[in-house]
Amino acid sequence: MFDSFGRIERRPRRTVSFSEAERMLRDGRAGAGGLLGFGNGRSYGDSCHNDGGALVEMRPEARILGFDPASGILDAEAGVLLADIIAFAAPHGFFLPVTPGTRFVTLGGAIANDVHGKNHHRRGTFGCHVVSFELLRSNGAVFSCSPLKNEALFAATIGGMGLTGLIVTARIRLMRVPSLDVEERVTRFADLDQFFALAEKADADNEYAVAWIDQLAEGGRAGRGLLLTGNHAGNGNFDASPRPAWLGVSFELPFSVLNRPSLKLFNAAYHHLKGREAGPHLSGYEPFFYPLDSLRGWNRLYGPAGLYQHQSVIPEPQARETIPAMLEATRRAGQVSFLTVLKRFGTIRSPGLLSFPQPGYTLTLDFPNRGEKTLELLSELDRLTVEAQGRVNPYKDQRMSAATFAASFPQWKMLEEQRDPAFSSNFWRRTAQVLAA
Ligand SMILES: Cc1cc2nc3c(=O)[nH]c(=O)nc-3n(C[C@H](O)[C@H](O)[C@H](O)COP(=O)(O)OP(=O)(O)OC[C@H]3O[C@@H](n4cnc5c(N)ncnc54)[C@H](O)[C@@H]3O)c2cc1C
Repeated sequence: MFDSFGRIERRPRRTVSFSEAERMLRDGRAGAGGLLGFGNGRSYGDSCHNDGGALVEMRPEARILGFDPASGILDAEAGVLLADIIAFAAPHGFFLPVTPGTRFVTLGGAIANDVHGKNHHRRGTFGCHVVSFELLRSNGAVFSCSPLKNEALFAATIGGMGLTGLIVTARIRLMRVPSLDVEERVTRFADLDQFFALAEKADADNEYAVAWIDQLAEGGRAGRGLLLTGNHAGNGNFDASPRPAWLGVSFELPFSVLNRPSLKLFNAAYHHLKGREAGPHLSGYEPFFYPLDSLRGWNRLYGPAGLYQHQSVIPEPQARETIPAMLEATRRAGQVSFLTVLKRFGTIRSPGLLSFPQPGYTLTLDFPNRGEKTLELLSELDRLTVEAQGRVNPYKDQRMSAATFAASFPQWKMLEEQRDPAFSSNFWRRTAQVLAA
């Protein structure tokens, strides 16, 4: 089906192979709807869809082409999964310098969305570690792009959501680590004030820091949570062999099995059990970086209507007011988020033109799709974000207005200038192309 992860608009989609796309571009046959690279569909919304045109299946283009164990420089085709890069590099003592919360993401997708991880404060975004890439554009021309060559295309492609052409291969710099495993600490906080008091020092002291918030707790405890911090352990190992998923949802559920009572129980248990792991302890890299990957197909638990994710970043001075206001808005709407994550972004600038992170706090909220009611809440969250001079994440989005996008990324016109006219997406058509019309 080539769904995105939120599974909101599910329909059969026209796809072409990479070699067919190459021929179409060379012969000027991309068509009115154009093309769009499709990695592994881990974007939540419609930025990885191009209805009316075709998606280019990039997953099969997945060879690792070269690796220098002295420098950690790796060359690979764009369809390779981060999971495969981890498995390849681990025996050499290397890991990804930046990883999102799932390893089932392609190299091309990680660059095109300029993904971030739990160590943004130390390493910036994925794009900060891209040395160069080859980009296929209209007329079949391949451009070598780096900070010194075709610089404008390099900047526009990092975080450019596939709109500048097809990333064919990329060269990235991996990070040497003492082991894949992580020495983790878990710190409980009773409310957001306590979290804000802890967050800056947690970043200063640790490679990784992220907080989980229990919005479903009762009795004035909503806002309590756990701050998870960690550093690669000196006494861990480099075993990257994947563990079997402990739950796999491979079939369609007729309704959502995630509801307030079931999640309230889950959250209370997680807060209690995880919160007991207070002292430093060794965590395997999979549970630390990718806890949700062990629940294969968990997005299906939201049922046929799917889920919306809302991710915002709020500048530091406004965050202490705006983030509690956003959580309060979800409570007022009677739709608290089922999974709530809060993280402080650092100041390292991405080379990407439309990169999402900026200094401040990023709040990620997951909501089951309850139709109009949920859309109204999401618009209210947009409003609060924009009012605080923040940004709404486009690659998690399925419905933000063109105005919200323009307020979040006033530099969108520069990407439009670098966009290959043979490429477009549902997201771009309903935001930038409306603004440009
Ligand atoms: C459980 C989960 C946790 C996540 N955690 C994080 C997180 O912590 N941080 C974060 O930043 N993101 C996170 N994400 C989002 C995810 O990392 C990104 O959306 C990622 O970019 C998806 O990559 P993909 O390979 O699946 O690409 P797709 O979703 O298929 O496509 C993503 C974009 O890349 C473009 N694209 C794909 N391949 C190419 C190519 N070869 N050339 C040009 N363009 C291409 C597409 O056109 C599209 O615009 C998470 C997602 C999930 C499901």
